[in-house]
Amino acid sequence: MLDNLLHKGRRKKLVETIKNKGISDERVLDAIGKIPRHLFMESFLDKVAYEDRAQPIASGQTISQPYTVAFQTQLLEIERGDKVLEIGTGSGYQTAVLIELGTKVYSIERQRNLYEQTRVFLPKLGYSANLFWGDGYKGKSMYAPFDKILITAGAPFLPPELLTQLKIGGILVAPIGENEQVMYSVKRTGEDSFEQKECGYFRFVPLLEGVK
Ligand code: SAH
Repeated sequence: MLDNLLHKGRRKKLVETIKNKGISDERVLDAIGKIPRHLFMESFLDKVAYEDRAQPIASGQTISQPYTVAFQTQLLEIERGDKVLEIGTGSGYQTAVLIELGTKVYSIERQRNLYEQTRVFLPKLGYSANLFWGDGYKGKSMYAPFDKILITAGAPFLPPELLTQLKIGGILVAPIGENEQVMYSVKRTGEDSFEQKECGYFRFVPLLEGVK
């Protein structure tokens, strides 16, 4: 698993690119600058791995665009030690970004083969997360409440079960919509009260119900 000077150079440029697009959280930029993104995808994508674009991974899914990963992470207002629930593990790249920020990550993936692949891969890079094969719509009540919840697939609506698993004072970030999604940042302000902000348009693969 090689991370050579070319990769490092391209990664540095990628950090500049997303900084110029408006990402200002230095911790997020540092994480992107540190993680060997090319290793999260197949080797034929090596040359394009540091372009600011989504790329295909197994099972018809995608590793999100670096800008989008950084944008969602920034919205989460991460603090060291946060307990974070991620829906849509995919390649594990976003998981690695969260771990770099000092969080404890619980991540759910509905596609069995992606789950198996990432479960073996992340520890090889030294990342330790709690990964689950399951339906993210249900969350993980056993480990709730979470300080932060992040959905990395386009959800048709805010999954109610996830809102109940958010700590009071916690933040949930989710792209909501069918073909195109509006990024929502939702803060739980009380037992039954939430404050939401709309943060622009994005495109994600869909959040599907059930497991595969
Ligand atoms: N965070 C990932 C992005 C992967 S794309 C990365 O950095 O690579 C979104 C992922 O969400 C896909 O892997 C898809 O299989 C998964 N997904 C879709 N619906 C889901 C659900 N209901 N529960 C869990 N994962 C789901």
